[in-house]
This record gives sequence, structure tokens and C-alpha cells, in this order.
Amino acid sequence: MARIQLPSPRETVSIGKSTRGLDIELSRYGTGPVSSLLIGGVHGDEPEGYLFAERFIQDIREGAVQVPDHLTLYICPRLNPDGCSVDRRTNARNVDLNRNLPTRDWTADFTNPRYFPGLAAGSEVESEITVALMEAVQPRMIMSLHSYEHAMINYNGDCLDLAEAMARTNGLPPKSDIGYPTPGSLGTYAGWERNIPTITLEILRGQLPDDAYTQHRQAALDGLSFYRS
Ligand SMILES: [Zn+2]
Repeated sequence: MARIQLPSPRETVSIGKSTRGLDIELSRYGTGPVSSLLIGGVHGDEPEGYLFAERFIQDIREGAVQVPDHLTLYICPRLNPDGCSVDRRTNARNVDLNRNLPTRDWTADFTNPRYFPGLAAGSEVESEITVALMEAVQPRMIMSLHSYEHAMINYNGDCLDLAEAMARTNGLPPKSDIGYPTPGSLGTYAGWERNIPTITLEILRGQLPDDAYTQHRQAALDGLSFYRS
């Protein structure tokens, strides 16, 4: 995988192509010394996440959301554009991208085909791009937007304080454990194995986009700007 060329401030660039050849886009806002990474659309059937990310980008562009001076914010709203385009959880090769990252506990075992981890750790082009993106950005923290019938702030890594700061405005419970094992997930890869505070924000499944945006806008901003150095 070639090194990713990061965008300039207020620019959007393609950081690679999906399995089916769609662009995976990355936008950059702010010029501060601390970098945070916001990811949406890992699961293509969770529009609550990618719609939030896209509206957040729009609000930043229009000045309705201000990126704090200390922050450089990178946003990849649709990491899995193939899945998002057809409302499918997995990528175009039926792989669950949140089970395919090359974690130490990665396993080929699965029972539910929705969680197919692929034939090898990191086998998918979207996973290679995720790893290269983290290498390029060197984020202080990562926030990934998902949806689930049990809305929560799932935190991985030593960052309960970060999760609690978000909970103050969105009212969701911080949880370090989603209730089942997730080998190959971003939380494991970044949070547990690399000590990068990682928030998997599980927006309430089926919540209307306007309501989800209202509930989480401030919490997202507070979380992304939580670390000042
Ligand atoms: Zn998900």
C-alpha cells in the first residue's frame, strides 16, 4: 500500500479506491497541532453514522461548527463506499471491515455471515487504507460512527474520561465492552493494541438523521477536541 497523501486544510482528496473502484474521501479542517480522526460508513447499512459525518463536514464548511485552534480534524465519512451505496454492512467481497483489521486476536472463525472477517487479517483494500490512514494522520484519538439498537459510547484504550466528556452532552452510557468479542475491530487495533483512544459511537439504530445530529453534534466536537496535546 502506497503512503497516503493527506489533504491540505479545507481540502478533500481521494485516499484510495474501494473494491469496486469508488473513491474513499478524506477531508481536513483546522491547522492545530493535535490531530483527530473521524470515520463513518465502515458498515454500509448504518446510515446514521455516515449521514452524521457528512452533515458535520457541511456545518464546518459553512461555519456553523468551529474547529478549535488546537485541532486538525480529518474526516473520512464513508470508509466503505461500496457497502454504503447498496445499504450493505460488508464491503463488496462480503467482508465485515470491522473484523478484518490485522489485530493480534484476528481470527478466521465466524458463525454469523454478517461478521465474515475475510480470509486473512487485513485482506481487504479498505483495511489497508484504514491502516495507512492511521499511519499518515498519527491521530491523538479516533472516533468511528456506527449504529446499534443499544446506543452507547463504546471506548477502547485508556479513555473513560473522554467517553464521559461526550456523555455529558449526548446522554449515552460509556461502555468499554460492547457485549461480545470483536477481533479485527478498529477499537481493538487502535485502542487496545496501539493505545490510541478510540470511540465507537453507537448512534441509536433507526434514529432520524436530524435527531441524531442534534443529539451528537456537541458530543462529537467535544470528543474530537478533548485532547489538547
Ligand atoms: Zn457498525
